[in-house]
Amino acid sequence: MTDTIRNVVILGSGCSGNTAALYAARANLKPLVIEGHEPGGQLSITTLVENFPGFPDGIQGPELVENIKKQAQKFGAEYRVGHLTAADLSQRPFKLTVGKDTLQTHTLIIASGASARWLGLPHEQALIGHGVSSCATCDGFFFSGKEVVVIGGGDTAMEEATFLTRFASKVTIIHRREEFRASAIMLERARTNPKIAFLTDTVVEDVYDVSAKEVTGLKLRNLKTDVVWDFPTSALFLGIGHVPNAGAFAGQLDADMDGYLKTTDYVFTKVPGVFASGDVSDRRYRQAITAAGTGCMAALEVEKFLEHHHRL
Ligand code: NDP
Repeated sequence: MTDTIRNVVILGSGCSGNTAALYAARANLKPLVIEGHEPGGQLSITTLVENFPGFPDGIQGPELVENIKKQAQKFGAEYRVGHLTAADLSQRPFKLTVGKDTLQTHTLIIASGASARWLGLPHEQALIGHGVSSCATCDGFFFSGKEVVVIGGGDTAMEEATFLTRFASKVTIIHRREEFRASAIMLERARTNPKIAFLTDTVVEDVYDVSAKEVTGLKLRNLKTDVVWDFPTSALFLGIGHVPNAGAFAGQLDADMDGYLKTTDYVFTKVPGVFASGDVSDRRYRQAITAAGTGCMAALEVEKFLEHHHRL
């Protein structure tokens, strides 16, 4: 265990964690950011962000999140590669296990975000990296001239499908309902793209072919007719939403039925000194700008908390 007791440790280096780090660093709190499983968070695997204020021509997601990190580092934020494996929030200083180290901190900001959801198909995990993917920007390039499938009916699915048409000869969006959750503009963009086809009321029951170590097709079921058939494809991209990365706090902090951390006044958890920001506690907005906003709020609350309890 390290003897130093940190003012604040921030879990996660996405838009929220980096913004919290920027504010905490500028308040001279010398924050330590634990980068987490996916450094840079969801923005690091997206393309053009068109709705972050201040960028009239848009900005690439990885560039945006890297810029915020640089801004935080400029004011003294420290970044460490690694992820949390255990946490003891029963008393202050809180104890956090990161790799072989146990860190101590007066306050904690959980900005660990959310990760892509998988379908849970019998052979899905075995084919990840062999044609099953949750990241079109990472893996789309490998399917130049091939036919691929995207699952989902939200903005992620529309964005992934549209992006994949840069490489693939055809993209089929498979969605379990007839209605789409996606915003009108993104749905329209996909609908008018000549390379994109839609299959609705349809679910995937399995993915082939583990023995060939590549995706060769899907087993599909039409939910209205119950007809089952095989659908040839070279890749299966998932765009079916995310699960919050809050498992390490089970039993210590309150979460809703899907695992999102419960907060009051935006960023307060039930443990004094522990704050949550960004997608780990936001099932409603899940935007880069709202994640940045709550990251800022969490850092401001940390500052107040430390002033009050530790007279900084
Ligand atoms: P959503 O929750 O909006 O959509 C998930 C989709 O996946 C739904 O259509 C859902 O179906 C489907 N789905 C979920 N689970 C399964 C399953 N087990 N089997 C089959 N289908 C399933 O998530 P998104 O990731 O699309 O979007 C999240 C948020 O991020 C939204 O607020 C969105 O607007 C935003 N976003 C914005 C972007 C942008 O502006 N550039 C880009 C991407 C996301 P059903 O509808 O039946 O529930």
